[in-house]
Amino acid sequence: MFYSNTTLQNIEKIEKLYYYSAIISTKAYKNTSREKLLQEINWESFTERCEFLGISMFAKIKLTKIPKIIYEQFPFSTTLRYSDRYKNNLKQLISKRNYFYNSYFVKMFRDWNKLPEDLKAENNYEDFKVKLIANRKEIIINHYNYDTETDRIYLSFRMKNSLLQSDKYKMGMSETNICINCPTKKQETLLHYVFHCPKYNYQRQKMLRQIKSIAKLKYISENNLLKLLMNNNINIYLHKNEYNFIILQFKSYIENTKRFL
Ligand SMILES: [Zn+2]
Repeated sequence: MFYSNTTLQNIEKIEKLYYYSAIISTKAYKNTSREKLLQEINWESFTERCEFLGISMFAKIKLTKIPKIIYEQFPFSTTLRYSDRYKNNLKQLISKRNYFYNSYFVKMFRDWNKLPEDLKAENNYEDFKVKLIANRKEIIINHYNYDTETDRIYLSFRMKNSLLQSDKYKMGMSETNICINCPTKKQETLLHYVFHCPKYNYQRQKMLRQIKSIAKLKYISENNLLKLLMNNNINIYLHKNEYNFIILQFKSYIENTKRFL
């Protein structure tokens, strides 16, 4: 039922449901980008899930011994091409009307040909499934919490929809991106808030003293430390406990500055 033109609107409704559940479980702000949020919590979109299940079912029909009378209904002939490159491709089913373009078999014949060669060449369904799972996008597990108001603010930094002037300005929620908490007339970017805004010098020193007590972070640059706090890859290996420790210090900073009350 998901492979039909008539239900594209329904798919959109389900995708929205996914998004709202993600919003609820992370307490993210309502204007958070769908793509960024699903990436953050590593959920597959509904469409990706359907494609995975669809092709699994298709492979099952193609590769397992289903009754001959049913099997013969499907024109599983491979394309006759001069090149070996396409030897595992299926001859496309032609849908006479647009209406059937997304119907199950028409779509699956198309999707099948997009699979990597070793998958298309597979003759055994169980092996096919193992390879198909291995081919799915890598699941990276983040160890974020989404419990407190501070977690929510921290998430909004990563989603780039925080209440910092620069984010608000980009979202059209503020007429200026200049910091309103200090006289420097600098843009209130995340970098300004975390490292430069003179209003929070005291809280900042406290945070940095703690973070830099970890020897390998003693001479870290501001940019790299910010990346580290936002969980972007940098070339410093931290033990999980050390990482949790610096995130804790950062969260205390967010709380102590009282910037987002
Ligand atoms: Zn400032």
